Amino acid sequence: MPIAARAFAAVAADKPLEPYRFDRRDPGADDVAIEIKYCGVCHSDLHIARNDLGGTRYPVVPGHEIAGVVTAVGGNVSRFKVGDRVGVGCMVDSCRTCPACQEGEEQYCVPGMTQTYGSADPLGEPVGQSITQGGYSDRITVNQDFVLRIPDSLPLDAAAPLLCAGITTWSPLRHWNVGEGSKVAVVGLGGLGHMAVKLAHAMGAEVTVLSTSDRKKADAERMGAKHFLINSDKAAMKAAAEKFDLIINTVSATHEIAGHLNLLARDGTMVMLGLTTEPMPVFAMPLLWRRRSVAGSLIGGIRETQEMLNFCAEHGIACDIETIAPDQINEAYARMEKSDVRYRFVIDMARMN
Ligand code: NAP
Ligand code: ZN
Ligand code: ZN
Repeated sequence: MPIAARAFAAVAADKPLEPYRFDRRDPGADDVAIEIKYCGVCHSDLHIARNDLGGTRYPVVPGHEIAGVVTAVGGNVSRFKVGDRVGVGCMVDSCRTCPACQEGEEQYCVPGMTQTYGSADPLGEPVGQSITQGGYSDRITVNQDFVLRIPDSLPLDAAAPLLCAGITTWSPLRHWNVGEGSKVAVVGLGGLGHMAVKLAHAMGAEVTVLSTSDRKKADAERMGAKHFLINSDKAAMKAAAEKFDLIINTVSATHEIAGHLNLLARDGTMVMLGLTTEPMPVFAMPLLWRRRSVAGSLIGGIRETQEMLNFCAEHGIACDIETIAPDQINEAYARMEKSDVRYRFVIDMARMN
């Protein structure tokens, strides 16, 4: 018997999200059925709903910051049982055999991982025609290998955004070896940015936030930032030249990045996380003169997602959230477009009509 799900879906790029009903698959032998309690609202959801990247198939239920409770498990599932607190992030499957999958970097799966929403769904009905549907819904069925355990000390609502905002910032911080004494700058204090500040601070880094205004200064300091710069302030940007080992750039829109390169120390790297689609010019000279790099990073693997969740539990880290009812999603998107988010909207599924 398929599981009836209630959801909110995007139906067209220029239309508000609306209530949507569909079926989740009954758990197969390797599946975990989950009642979704909370789902974070990532800026990527907005990009996909608005077709910013092209290729969105409608109707699509966004949401890949899922926290909930197990309601049933298949016969091969031994790691999870009914009642467990679990999470699902941006992926629900991958090929499992390519070099990336073998190394636990499923996000870089060569034939392509199955994204939580908007990917072709090999298990969906009708076969060959359906897409995966995400977490703005009250039920989901996921292969056990893509289900994460949410430690008991983390509240489910404030843990939900860790499944994308947390892992997307954790992965580059680890990859570029941030630790005691590292100097890290975070550009953009939104959902990803605020997690980058908290995580880098907990890893021992000295953190600086670069923001478009001083509105979020007090919050940044509370989260662990030592310095706060406004990126249009030319004098402050000049004074910060050559200061940072790593810049985590979380800006969600096309912006001027060339001016940020001079902020990097020798061998420093600026990691681009925003899903921007237009070119952003960089100049060779500031790169070669200090052997600097511009890089990118995509979410993180399943193993490191669990490591990140455990680290957050040990360090008492969770997201700063504003909880909303499902039917407030369009209002939340409008506020996100104005950078008016402190610091993640999280949908409370108990408030689904
Ligand atoms: P968000 O909560 O909306 O935050 C984005 C922040 O960027 C804003 O709070 C604002 O910070 C800054 N910003 C926005 N527009 C700007 C502009 N025109 N110029 C300068 N700064 C601007 O978004 P998010 O959920 O953190 O996501 C950030 C980006 O990462 C999105 O593009 C999202 O799709 C992408 N993403 C990528 C991955 C990945 O795997 N790489 C994963 C998740 C999300 P201030 O108010 O501080 O200026
Ligand atoms: Zn996301
Ligand atoms: Zn693979």
